[in-house]
Amino acid sequence: MENCIFCKIINKQISGSILYEDDICIAFLDLSQVTKGHTLVVPKKHYKNILDVDKHTSGHLFEVVTDLSKKIVNHLKAEGVNIVSNANQVAYQTVDHFHIHIIPRYQKEEGFKMLFEDNQGRFDLQQVVNEINK
Ligand code: 5GP
Ligand code: ZN
Repeated sequence: MENCIFCKIINKQISGSILYEDDICIAFLDLSQVTKGHTLVVPKKHYKNILDVDKHTSGHLFEVVTDLSKKIVNHLKAEGVNIVSNANQVAYQTVDHFHIHIIPRYQKEEGFKMLFEDNQGRFDLQQVVNEINK
């Protein structure tokens, strides 16, 4: 897609630090390097996000994420990893071409934070299940 920065990296119109590539996807280092080795796994075809992509493509991406996470953690001697995919502005998506972040973790206090608020008791869980399965 025109004016899409990730399409430009995929088409080699601009350079990226490419770690892996096959027919369906490409993985390159995120410019921001939230932590050392921060990587994006991206389908070659332009989809907006996980709410737009087909499951054959996303399934393949998750296979690549699995392999690359192990490789990155082992080779960079990280202690763990966060896998994140932001969909739409409300969820902090800034580049509208589907991507999965691999963020290797070395220590608790570093460039990346995630807050899971405890809202136990706020929702009727059975009602939520019913609403989703409706
Ligand atoms: P989002 O905020 O949409 O989940 O993630 C977009 C990511 O793309 C950000 O982490 C940002 O640093 C990265 N990014 C934006 N432009 C470029 C670029 O030109 N090259 C690379 N390698 N990463 C980029
Ligand atoms: Zn694109």
